[in-house]
Amino acid sequence: MERLQKVIAASGITSRRKAEQYITQGRVRVNGEVVTQLGTQVKKGDVIEVDGEVIARENKVYYLMNKPKKTLCASSDDRGRQTVIDLMECEERVFTVGRLDYDTSGALLITNDGEFANQIIHPRYHLPKTYNLTINGILTGSDMKALKEGIVLDDGYRTQPSRFKITEKDPEKNQCSFDLTIYEGKNRQIKRMMEALGYEVRRLHRKQIAFLGCSDLSQGEYRILKPHEVKMLR
Ligand code: URA
Repeated sequence: MERLQKVIAASGITSRRKAEQYITQGRVRVNGEVVTQLGTQVKKGDVIEVDGEVIARENKVYYLMNKPKKTLCASSDDRGRQTVIDLMECEERVFTVGRLDYDTSGALLITNDGEFANQIIHPRYHLPKTYNLTINGILTGSDMKALKEGIVLDDGYRTQPSRFKITEKDPEKNQCSFDLTIYEGKNRQIKRMMEALGYEVRRLHRKQIAFLGCSDLSQGEYRILKPHEVKMLR
């Protein structure tokens, strides 16, 4: 038996808090009956509807993919571009945990567990993410100081301090590469941080999410997370 709001959140349609609101607002039915009592227990086989739509209850699956460039973090694309979900052979209705840009490669979590996904992308949850990137210039001392202390983005948000390590300097091509670890996940954060410093990102790869690296996976390859890995991410 599981709590109704937990099952709704786990289906990926909304967060647990919103699920509670749906229940108290009378928008949820269990086996055809409206249920407004928070904490109602449901069992496997019970049919749960939210706003008249039956929610899917599948076994939870968790994957780590090395996302190739030129793939979209979406389940479909009206412009016909390939999505990361197109690359997968799995029966469950999975989705990506957060997003990487179309031209970004690297570590990406994919699941059908909405509650897990919501936890991980919640701003309060400071999971470190390490990127390796190449920019059109060589970082100066003041850029490095700004990276360490936080950078004001185009919308006025000041980023949390980040960590970085130069991995390559190429004055001939006027570019440098470095690892950058951030502890939050604003939309297009890395590119916007670099834009704020006056640079353009030439290449962006996410090497690691927390303790999960993807160097042992070729581009487009994915693996099932081990149960202890899922536990450690929560
Ligand atoms: N930051 C970006 O700018 N793009 C990504 O894909 C990920 C982080």
